[in-house]
Amino acid sequence: MVRAKPDVDTALRILRDNAPELTTEMVPVFVASGRVVATPPLAQLPVPRFRASAMDGFALASDFTLRASAEDPVHMLVVERYGAAGVAAEGLRAGEAARIATGAPVPNGADSVLIKEETVSTMVGGGRRLSLTMPVPAGSNIRLQGEDVLAGAPLVARGKLLSPAGIGLMVAAGVSEVEVRRWPRVRLVCTGSELAADAASLDHPARIPDSNGPMLMAALREIGLPYHSCHHAADEADQLEKGLIDGDADILISTGGVSAGDYDLIPGTLEKLGATIHFNGVSMRPGKPILFATLADNRPFLGLPGNPVAAAVGFRFFFGALLREMLRVPIEAGIPIKTRIPRRPGTTLFLRGRAHHDDYGALGIELEGDQRSHILSSVVAADSWIRVDGNETRAPLLFSQLLSLKS
Ligand code: AMP
Ligand code: MG
Repeated sequence: MVRAKPDVDTALRILRDNAPELTTEMVPVFVASGRVVATPPLAQLPVPRFRASAMDGFALASDFTLRASAEDPVHMLVVERYGAAGVAAEGLRAGEAARIATGAPVPNGADSVLIKEETVSTMVGGGRRLSLTMPVPAGSNIRLQGEDVLAGAPLVARGKLLSPAGIGLMVAAGVSEVEVRRWPRVRLVCTGSELAADAASLDHPARIPDSNGPMLMAALREIGLPYHSCHHAADEADQLEKGLIDGDADILISTGGVSAGDYDLIPGTLEKLGATIHFNGVSMRPGKPILFATLADNRPFLGLPGNPVAAAVGFRFFFGALLREMLRVPIEAGIPIKTRIPRRPGTTLFLRGRAHHDDYGALGIELEGDQRSHILSSVVAADSWIRVDGNETRAPLLFSQLLSLKS
């Protein structure tokens, strides 16, 4: 059932509509960095946990200092109950000031902290006395309980990647476990009878190394996916069938074998296995022979082209969109840029280039060398992809070369 080739946006929408949601798991916060939040963790404690001093100084009641002036200073008695961090201080009586350290709980009866360096104290009759020549504003140098987050508040939104700061905030708020998406297991099947299984098979002059396998495995590692496997299959129906059946994987990716050649056996093999092919070919360049299907057991299958740059583009944008949707991470927008790259009506171009800023700070790009789909060296020299749609109404979009789940 082969229809007209969809455009990139249509194909990505079909792909998202057919992306199964990954299940979730509870993990300790200490190992949750880089994981995707499935259920926003709720603060068990307010942060700060209590009303605390922001400075080393003296805790006091500001209204006692209201009438302080240079001519008529207000004197306060320093009580040597040291409010150290971690020690709950006792309450103050009228006219008392207590020494206090940064982070310590502010004693009852005090509503301000006077900074140590801005204070003159003298010894009077065996006690220490603070002499204030102007009023202390209420609330000075006080951190309020819960002014960072209130108890019960959600700490990190659903679909966000947990950052180191997110880990810090969860721990500060008394959270010990967080519900995240399970990582999918990815199975890679590189097809082609020309691919050498190992270095020794390169003795045959018509064999080439499988470079797609290691390239895509490295890309999977870059995203942080811990589970993946790679398999080779010659262009023979039974080998392909064997390679495609792997009960363990959540996502299957193949390279090669999806164009219109005699040995392009992927579509036929999928049909034989009872898969539903959603699209076979997308109006884009490079990467036009790209296929997306759902296997009979509901697992997604992405058939990438064999040409290395086309495989890289298909992985970067189509696997990227599939993975985001399965993890329920928001879609990637790209950065609109001003450039004079000529469009190609009816097709989306993915061009390799380097991003830079001009003298006025405006973001621009420089295209990198040969743009054909078998030329990998220009991708190595580049750092970005530029998506240029055939449609005049949309600005070209800049994307990082590496796939990531960050927004
Ligand atoms: P195909 O899509 O199978 O027709 O392959 C298109 C081109 O990509 C051919 O020149 C293949 O030799 C090449 N190719 C396919 N698979 C790989 C691979 N795993 N590594 C490197 N090149 C490949
Ligand atoms: Mg092939």
